[in-house]
Amino acid sequence: MNSPIRSIRGMNDILPEDIHFWQKLESTAEQVFAAHGFEQIRLPMLEKTAVFSRGIGSATDVVSKEMYSFDDRNGESLSLRPEGTAGVVRAALQNGLLYGPVKRLWYGGPMFRYERPQKGRSRQFHQLGAELFGASGPDADLEILALGTRLWEALGLTGLRLEINSLGNADERAAYREKLYAFLLAHQEQLDEQTRERAERNPLRVLDSKDPQVQALLLEAPLLAEHLGDDSREHFEQLKHYLDRLGIAYVVNPRLVRGLDYYCHTVFEWMTTELGAQGTVCAGGRYDSLVELQGGKPWPGIGFAMGEERLVELLRQKDGIEPVHPHAYMVAVGENSDETALELAYDLRAGIPGLRLLSNLNGGSFKAQFKRADRSGALLALVLGEDEIRNGQIAIKFLRSGDEQLTLERSEIKDWIRRYIDSI
Ligand code: ATP
Ligand code: MG
Repeated sequence: MNSPIRSIRGMNDILPEDIHFWQKLESTAEQVFAAHGFEQIRLPMLEKTAVFSRGIGSATDVVSKEMYSFDDRNGESLSLRPEGTAGVVRAALQNGLLYGPVKRLWYGGPMFRYERPQKGRSRQFHQLGAELFGASGPDADLEILALGTRLWEALGLTGLRLEINSLGNADERAAYREKLYAFLLAHQEQLDEQTRERAERNPLRVLDSKDPQVQALLLEAPLLAEHLGDDSREHFEQLKHYLDRLGIAYVVNPRLVRGLDYYCHTVFEWMTTELGAQGTVCAGGRYDSLVELQGGKPWPGIGFAMGEERLVELLRQKDGIEPVHPHAYMVAVGENSDETALELAYDLRAGIPGLRLLSNLNGGSFKAQFKRADRSGALLALVLGEDEIRNGQIAIKFLRSGDEQLTLERSEIKDWIRRYIDSI
């Protein structure tokens, strides 16, 4: 016999016992996005590699090391999407969604990165993201941060910390990059191999290092904030003013940068201390040069992406496992009882929205069927025995409470169950 095939490392199954958290996250997000005027967009998981190498930047870890890329049968390089923003921009350009009124879009789904699997980090993971195009002011930044804040509230997630920073415009960033590079070069004997390599390819990314020794060195490094021009400074001040006005708590982290090349001005992350090392649950920023990098006329944008696995883990820690039990299990014994049961179940499910009703399959004695009903976790057994079928009735047995068994006329059952579900 063949041995069973296992899944690919870092690509996890999401099992029914967890699905409740995923559904809660996704349905809440859908509502909050809609309340802010964001429309959903659904995109292919596979794109031409250029969408990401141009859009994200070939010097980034994501593109240089983490992409699942392969040649199609006709020799064209394709990649599984490692993130959503580049594809949204590709689609927005292709479908004429830009260059008009402000456009608000959101997306969700699996992303793929060839990283070392560990807690909070997998090779297939899921993101929900929002993108806002056509507004370059701090009011648009505020809208994005308010959207995130309202989502955490709606999910009941307290204790997320918002960190913000400003990267300035492209010129200011480039000038700072040179200074930082010079600083890192001057201290290169204090840097490990990996950080040195990073400094060569993408010095800003060194600011992001988790290594305590590198962080200690960075305390002496030149600060981005000191390299911002008046306009950039004003933009950031205005955003902080708005946040204060709305009472949204934040911390300015002068060393916060994003891994991707296209960010400018406002960047931000929400993090938690409850997940260990992988504590960032949502990250984003302004990307006013991305549309141009993708081949369009310049057009401003800002957005974020959240890691669903990490948020689901927070919801699980907060709410615990709440299994969803069926309301009722249909027990049917006796000649032709199966037909009556199938017909009744068919009818009840149509007539009672939200009803979770299990039919008995594989026959079995009364005893066997009650055992299955009990195991299913159902609250009620709806019983069709020979007497009930002869009299046009149905018996109701309460499986989780001491309430006494009832017998109802078949015509009463729909209303009774409706009222019962409303009462629980
Ligand atoms: P990290 O610093 O954790 O590697 P990142 O900067 O690579 O994050 P982004 O590209 O900004 O992450 O993605 C946004 C969010 O998506 C992250 O904050 C995280 O919650 C989630 N995420 C990113 N990579 C993974 C992964 N491999 N597994 C699970 N979640 C992930
Ligand atoms: Mg990463």
